[in-house]
Amino acid sequence: MRERNGATAIVIGAGMAGLVTARVLSDHVDRVTVLERDRLPQDAVTRRSVPQGRHAHVLLARGQRLLDGWFPGLFDDLVQAGAVPLDAKDLVWHQAGAYRVRSDLGFLAMSMSRPLLERTVRERLLRQRSNVSITDEAAVDRLILEGGRVAGVRVDGAEHRADLVADCSGRNTRFLDQLAKEGFPAPEVSAVRVDTAYGTRIVRRRPDDLDGTLALVVDDPTRGHRMGTMVPVEGDRWIITVGSFHGDVPPTEPDEYEDFARSLPSPVIADVLARADAFTPVLSHRMPTSRRRRVERLERTPPGFVVLGDAVCSLNPVHWQGMSSAALQARALGQAVERHGPASPALAGDFYRRAAKVVDVPWKIAAGADFADPRTSGPEPTGTDLVNRYLDKVLRACHTSIPVARQTLRVQNLLARPESLMTPAMVLRVLLAARRSPAGVEMPAAPSARRRPAA
Ligand SMILES: Cc1cc2nc3c(=O)[nH]c(=O)nc-3n(C[C@H](O)[C@H](O)[C@H](O)COP(=O)(O)OP(=O)(O)OC[C@H]3O[C@@H](n4cnc5c(N)ncnc54)[C@H](O)[C@@H]3O)c2cc1C
Repeated sequence: MRERNGATAIVIGAGMAGLVTARVLSDHVDRVTVLERDRLPQDAVTRRSVPQGRHAHVLLARGQRLLDGWFPGLFDDLVQAGAVPLDAKDLVWHQAGAYRVRSDLGFLAMSMSRPLLERTVRERLLRQRSNVSITDEAAVDRLILEGGRVAGVRVDGAEHRADLVADCSGRNTRFLDQLAKEGFPAPEVSAVRVDTAYGTRIVRRRPDDLDGTLALVVDDPTRGHRMGTMVPVEGDRWIITVGSFHGDVPPTEPDEYEDFARSLPSPVIADVLARADAFTPVLSHRMPTSRRRRVERLERTPPGFVVLGDAVCSLNPVHWQGMSSAALQARALGQAVERHGPASPALAGDFYRRAAKVVDVPWKIAAGADFADPRTSGPEPTGTDLVNRYLDKVLRACHTSIPVARQTLRVQNLLARPESLMTPAMVLRVLLAARRSPAGVEMPAAPSARRRPAA
């Protein structure tokens, strides 16, 4: 490992990207200070600047493995706090017209609320890394620029200096705008307009709900239909999120919300809603676009500064990839800092190239599937129509073939590359199994020449 030489880092934002970035940087610098504008709660409750924390947050297996490695003992803490360990076999998935055959991933996943995950990671970070501190109610106003590099940040007029500033302030970061005003090039933005709308309710979980099974997903990505997720969280509760796209917004009035759930191809969520005690009203969230800032294409960036997490790539949440994508980016940052050191002018370029490679996979999975809906607009990855036609067959094959269902789950969990579903042996398996699907509905013909670029 390279010498630390008293190096320091500041992380802007204590969301999931900020926490894992602080963890990674703590291996490479002497002192990491996380600055967070919210007051951070002691309890596992939603906070003002992370409103998405009220909705179902599934941590994919790839993200879970990274967290497990960085924070030994984290999952014991989560279970103690009421998180529910799930085998993939505990997941019932209705997709493309029928239920998937159940398969396993070979290990347990944790199901909990986003606030519980964030609080537990925060506690572990502070307990395990003595060189990390978190200051809350500290909103960063500006980056300090000196001699063409970022030398720190300003909070309420006070200067905080560091060799490296990592911007993890989320989708609406303003620090790239500041850099653009100071004469640095602004990154190109790719935006895929899908207009995802969520409606969420938290209700009591009874042991006989779902016949004792632990999680349910209903979706239809290759047809862009309504979706629903019901996952267990601490306190014997279900978090139920239903959603749709392009202006089809789940109602907030409870009976209408239940009707919306009733319109899903599986009745289970509506049945649970009909008899459950609700702990919350229906909570709404809208996200107009998946958005990626192409920082890897920047010709010039100031030394002493990197940006990651949702600030770089904010994905349609129905694919559950945001936290795992942030963790993968943080890992790439660790590799780049190990190579160049935190203050090197070569750091940002190398990190952005590494991070672009890891973000490409979730971006293509999300954007590709979103373009199955003809109303989606924006820069469409090449060959998407063809891939989506094949994906429809894969999803139908998942109704009967355990090997296809398992590999699909591995790809969705970012444990395997999408190409692994396209080897000749797998294609043969998929085509044969898709014909045995009980769903019997083929994907409609691909719409043509219908898209306008997203604004
Ligand atoms: C409805 C919805 C559902 C989702 N579901 C899932 C899911 O199931 N699985 C999944 O993996 N991902 C999911 N995501 C994505 C996930 O929430 C994010 O990808 C993940 O939280 C990483 O975000 P982040 O840390 O980069 O940004 P954020 O979570 O937005 O955190 C940014 C932090 O920076 C702080 N901050 C901002 N500005 C400043 C400033 N000037 N000074 C100091 N602090 C500042 C904010 O207060 C906040 O704490 C979902 C997203 C949405 C919208």
